[in-house]
Formats: sequence, structure tokens, C-alpha cells
Amino acid sequence: MASRDTDVLIVGAGQAGASAAAALRDFGYPGRILIVGAEQALPYERPPLSKAMLAGSGAVSDILIHPAGFHAEKGVETLLGVAVSSLDVQGRTATLSDGARTTWRHCLIATGGQARSVAGLTPGAARVHYLRTIADALRLREAMRQHRSVLVVGGGFLGLEVASTARTLGLSATVLESADRLLGRVMPPALSRWLREAVCAAGVDLRLDARCEAFDVHADGVVVTLASGETVSADMVVAAIGLVPEVGLARRAGLKIHPDNGGIAVNERCETSAPGVYAAGDCSSQHHPFVDAEIRLESWQNANEQARLVAAAIAGQPAAALTAPWFWSDQFGANLQILGVPVPGLEYHCRGEPGDGDTAGKFLLLGANDAGQILHAIAVNAGGELRMLKPLVDSRTPCDPLALCDAASPLRQQVRAALARTPSPTLS
Ligand SMILES: Cc1cc2nc3c(=O)[nH]c(=O)nc-3n(C[C@H](O)[C@H](O)[C@H](O)COP(=O)(O)OP(=O)(O)OC[C@H]3O[C@@H](n4cnc5c(N)ncnc54)[C@H](O)[C@@H]3O)c2cc1C
Repeated sequence: MASRDTDVLIVGAGQAGASAAAALRDFGYPGRILIVGAEQALPYERPPLSKAMLAGSGAVSDILIHPAGFHAEKGVETLLGVAVSSLDVQGRTATLSDGARTTWRHCLIATGGQARSVAGLTPGAARVHYLRTIADALRLREAMRQHRSVLVVGGGFLGLEVASTARTLGLSATVLESADRLLGRVMPPALSRWLREAVCAAGVDLRLDARCEAFDVHADGVVVTLASGETVSADMVVAAIGLVPEVGLARRAGLKIHPDNGGIAVNERCETSAPGVYAAGDCSSQHHPFVDAEIRLESWQNANEQARLVAAAIAGQPAAALTAPWFWSDQFGANLQILGVPVPGLEYHCRGEPGDGDTAGKFLLLGANDAGQILHAIAVNAGGELRMLKPLVDSRTPCDPLALCDAASPLRQQVRAALARTPSPTLS
């Protein structure tokens, strides 16, 4: 059995894995780094898979996280199309799916997650689609060019982006959402209403409170029967009901898993319950200072920030603290950006004019608590303004939200003035 040694073994050639390798070199870490990835492709960005990549004609080379020669240039070894099958955290060895073994001093588990499956919709079956990998995206793209209608199960960010792209390509689209409003867990009701208008204005048949009872997948298409007794049919179906973190490897290695969110429990340095073993990205669960709770985030920003924490810990360098969670989505002609998290008791104020589902509009919704701290900010086509607000949100600096919403008063000045009134903001 072949064997090799490395200093840092990175399991998973995705956003967190690739970013951690790059950050290690940024910090001047001189040791050997090996990235083992189950997919064949070099590490690539997933956000375009439901956006430009699905709508356009690009290839994986267009969305690589680092250019093709980057790893060789940085002295990072990559082993692609191979999975890590088991980890011995005491003996610091890993067994790979090709039978090889590798020893390591530090190990990062950055295994992401898998699309949550819907009963009756077998992954890989004809007319059935999930969207997590480049292979999924290319298969879905091809199907969208062959067919005329799509049924999307799940009205979350991913499902809505797929429906938006489908409409751009001229397909008719139906979205089935089991909740009574869109993005109810992450958006205030006003934004859900605005989004519903935008979705419907784009010609999507949006069904809220729609619970799927049974699917009939046949050679010509798909028919879903809803709990209401109604049936809806389409040429194809895309299931987009969320993600299951990939923690099997960690579980088998005996690492602590968070009982509620299912992520690999890590400390502030992203170290797991086993010394020298780290976890980052969609598969990890960490106490987040902004939320003051242990959470598992599924976002590009989180994968990158945690990767940097891991690299700093391994390289023995100081690390920047985590900042307020940030997420974006492009859909129906609008760019949505969300900073912070919704918590009970926030009062929302609007800067700008939302209109009714007008995706050309530009506005901010600011969720403030009683102390005047903005804990949740949503920007529609206003990413620049959100960036101006970021120091205020990250530091939880109290402000006057009504004054911030006075469109006649420049936002940058308002933010500066609020920060100046509270000279040493700290996360608490
Ligand atoms: C379609 C889509 C659109 C998205 N859009 C947005 C967006 O607009 N904004 C945003 O903030 N976020 C978005 N995200 C989320 C963001 O891309 C993820 O949060 C991010 O990719 C997580 O990075 P990760 O490294 O944790 O996991 P991943 O990038 O998923 O990488 C994990 C890798 O590990 C590999 N792996 C798993 N197990 C093993 C093993 N045992 N051995 C070896 N390799 C293994 C997997 O094959 C995978 O390649 C989107 C995600 C998807 C799928």
C-alpha cells in the first residue's frame, strides 16, 4: 500500500480547503500541504453554478478559485478524484479511497455538504436534478436547453435562483414552497412580500403553503401531487430544499458533532475535539461572536473566514476575528445582500424606495434592536451602501436608524458620525 507524509492534509478541494491552502502560504507557512478532493475538478466557486454558469456557456475553468498553475506555484500538492475514507486522529494518518495512506501533523476537514434529497426524487434519475457540483450544473444546464418547463421544489435562495435562470432561458417555472412566505427564516415579512412580487412579475408560478405528497417521475416529465390534492406537472424537476453537512468522516473518527445543527464542533480557532484536527466551511459548527451562539453557516464568506482562522492557527499567526455573517444572491434582475442575522424584536426601517417587486429599485432594509444596533441589514441593488454600513453592523455600534434612513443625508457621513460617537466598539 502506497504511503506518503504531509504536514497539512486538507480534506476537500472546495472553497474552504482551497482558501486555507492559499492562506497558509500567505502566512508564510513553509510545510508540505496536500489537498485531497473527491471531485475531479480543481477547486471552483459554487455561487455561479446557479447563476451565470447555469445561464451561460462557461466551463469549470471560468470559475476556478485560483488559476490552474496556482497550486504548483505555491507548492501545494493536489490529489483530485480521490476521497479520504478514514481518519485516525490519534495516529495522525488517513486512508484514501485509492488505498493509499498518508500521515499528517495537522488536518483540515473541509468536506462541505450534499444536497438534501426529497423522497421520491432519486438523485441522478432522468428528469430529476439537484444542484451542488459543477457536474450537477452542467447536467441541469443541458436539460434546461432541451426542455420547456421546470418544477422547483423549495423556494429558498437556490430554488429561486434556478427559477430565475429558467425564466431567463425562456422556460416556464413553478416554485413549490412549503412555508407561507419566501425566505421566512432569514428575511423580514416586508422583504418576503417584495420578493414574491418580483418572482410573480417574472412569470413564475409561485405556490406558497405547497406541501408535496407524491412525485410521479416518468419518461416524459414529472407530476407532483400536493397535499391540497392539486397536481402540477413539468418536463423536469429541481429539488432545492437545503444541504446536509458532510460529517461522516468526522463522525467515524470520533469527533464531536453539534447535536442540533449537525456540524463538526470547533473552537474559536476552528479546532475540533481532536487536537491538530480542524474543520471549516459548510460542515463546521462554531460559536459566532456576532450571534453569540454556536451556528453552522453555509456561505462563501464563512468558508473563507474560517479557512483563514485555520491557516492562522496552524501557522502560529494572529487571526482576524469573524465578522457579521454576509450572504448574497442574484435573482430576477436584482442583487440581494444580507449582513447580520434576524433576531426576534428587530424593527425594520427602509432607506430608499422598494416599490412592488421592482427589481430595478435600490433600497436598504435595516433591522435595529431597542439599543439602536443594526443586527440585520438587507440591500437590494445597494451593495455599495451595505459595505458602508458594515463597520457599524460588525461592531454593533448604536445609531439612530431613522436618521440612517434619511435618503437626503449621505450614508457614509452618518456611519462615520455614529462610529465617532462610540470610539472603541467591540463585538459582544
Ligand atoms: C449552487 C450554489 C450556489 C451558491 N450560491 C451562493 C451565494 O450566492 N452566496 C454565498 O454566500 N454562498 C453561496 N453558496 C454556498 C457556498 O458556495 C458554500 O457555502 C461554499 O462552497 C462552502 O465551501 P466548503 O469548502 O465548506 O464546501 P464545498 O465548496 O462544497 O467543498 C467541499 C468539497 O469537499 C469534497 N469532499 C467531501 N467529502 C470528501 C472526502 N471524504 N474526501 C475528499 N473530498 C471530499 C466535496 O466533493 C467538495 O468538493 C452556493 C452554493 C451552491 C451549491
